[in-house]
Amino acid sequence: MDSNNFPDNCGVGEREARFSSTLVAERHFFFGHGIGRSGDIAEVQPKAAGSSILAKLTNSITLDILKLSGVSSTKGCLVLPVATGMALVLTLLALKQMKPCSKYVIWPRIDQKSCFKSILTAGLVPLVVENILKNGHLETDVESIEKYIIDYGSENILCVMTTTSCFAPRIPDRLEEVAIICKKLSVVHIVNNAYGVQSSKCMHLIQQANRVGRVDVFVQSTDKNFMVPVGGAIVAAFDMNLLSKISRTYPGRASASPVTDLFITLLSLGVEGYKKCLEDRKIVYEYLLSSLQEVAKLYNESVVETRQNQISIAITLKHLYDICGNDYNKISEFGSFLFKRSVSGTRVVTTQEEKVIGPNTFCGWGAHYNNYPTPYLTAAAALGATKTDVDRFIKKLNKAFKHFYKNGLMNLQKESHGSSLNSRETMCNEGSSINSLTFCNKMDCSDSSNPVLDKTCFKNFQKFNKFDSVKNVFKNDASKNIFIDINIDCKKFQRLKKASSCPSLHMEKLH
Ligand SMILES: *Cc1c(COP(=O)(O)O)cnc(C)c1O
Repeated sequence: MDSNNFPDNCGVGEREARFSSTLVAERHFFFGHGIGRSGDIAEVQPKAAGSSILAKLTNSITLDILKLSGVSSTKGCLVLPVATGMALVLTLLALKQMKPCSKYVIWPRIDQKSCFKSILTAGLVPLVVENILKNGHLETDVESIEKYIIDYGSENILCVMTTTSCFAPRIPDRLEEVAIICKKLSVVHIVNNAYGVQSSKCMHLIQQANRVGRVDVFVQSTDKNFMVPVGGAIVAAFDMNLLSKISRTYPGRASASPVTDLFITLLSLGVEGYKKCLEDRKIVYEYLLSSLQEVAKLYNESVVETRQNQISIAITLKHLYDICGNDYNKISEFGSFLFKRSVSGTRVVTTQEEKVIGPNTFCGWGAHYNNYPTPYLTAAAALGATKTDVDRFIKKLNKAFKHFYKNGLMNLQKESHGSSLNSRETMCNEGSSINSLTFCNKMDCSDSSNPVLDKTCFKNFQKFNKFDSVKNVFKNDASKNIFIDINIDCKKFQRLKKASSCPSLHMEKLH
């Protein structure tokens, strides 16, 4: 139905949906005009009746899906050929046109870059509301939101941007309470529902928030919720005027690809098919949860209680952190270990990262919180995930724990040996001295089953020390260990030990 495909078409314009490559033409089903007109992305394009119908149908079917997924009072929606972050930018810019003198966006912290950057890209100023830590999970500080609105003046606040779907241990924002405040103080409330369509919990929150208070727009990703390639987002609204403001803010036409992908996917799934996907996801979530609880028990960790987050689950790496000598690098390596073994999508959060985005610095980035008490790992049961995915992940997670436990414990043993050394070395401060040294290659010199003399070490030690303070040298022919009677200052010994790289050098006695 698009003019470029009419047999008698004579295109004499500058944009006639011509294809040079047949492969490209076929990839787009001979639709080349895209969607929208220069002034409004939702408008019908006379040259392209087919593409326009496709776009309109997709919007209608999608609206239906949003309603049956839980937000039954949605008035309209717009499938945009930009991802979620850009769809948020567009929404913010439309709002800005309606309220030109306001510039602040109140944003309960969620550690995801694109949604924060959408505020900056729209030329607005974010007011970050830190979360509250409660029983291990992180929730919205509703009181601070209200305080911000009052302190800055509601006329200066462009909107509040809350988030539903997020990584545990954060839970969805307290949407209803925020919505009530927004209604009371006449402030626009937009919801970042990035991957929330797949969670009845997130959708229910939006529906309820709109019922008891104010929600203007909620934005979601097409790829995260409908298993299509990245490239689209859905802006849904409770007010058609606002929705058309947003569609008119989009400059020019747009690619029809994301719309077509969603159209095909929704038609092929059907309502029943999509509902089945939603149900399957819930089962996989429960399965992931119980599997992670088992792993947690095995390794002395715990699954953070975030029942309100029905997608993402966090398991602590507290004990692992202790075993790895309280080394955050080891925690990062734990994540790399999984990634290298084809586990994708898990996030290891050390809680130590600092991130600068535009004018803002976030401490403890990744954790949605400045000082979350323990490092942890998150995994999600997102739409399309299977039990097989979970089984494979759990197997590799077990492997990772085992690997790090083994190495961690080995190092601890080494260290505990070293720590006796260390404890003695602390005495160095008191001016103590050493009067006997043993050279051997074994961790435990008393075990002379077959020690190999570390000659290099001994030589180095000789070289550096020149045996100034050595009184006697004994060689044990059987064990091949060397014992030295020496009188050496503890501090000096430490330096020599370092210089001669003698890991197998043991102090025998201190005075
Ligand atoms: C995915 C996501 C976004 C947007 O990402 P896009 O790449 O722009 O689709 C924003 N916020 C959250 C919480 C997300 O998960």
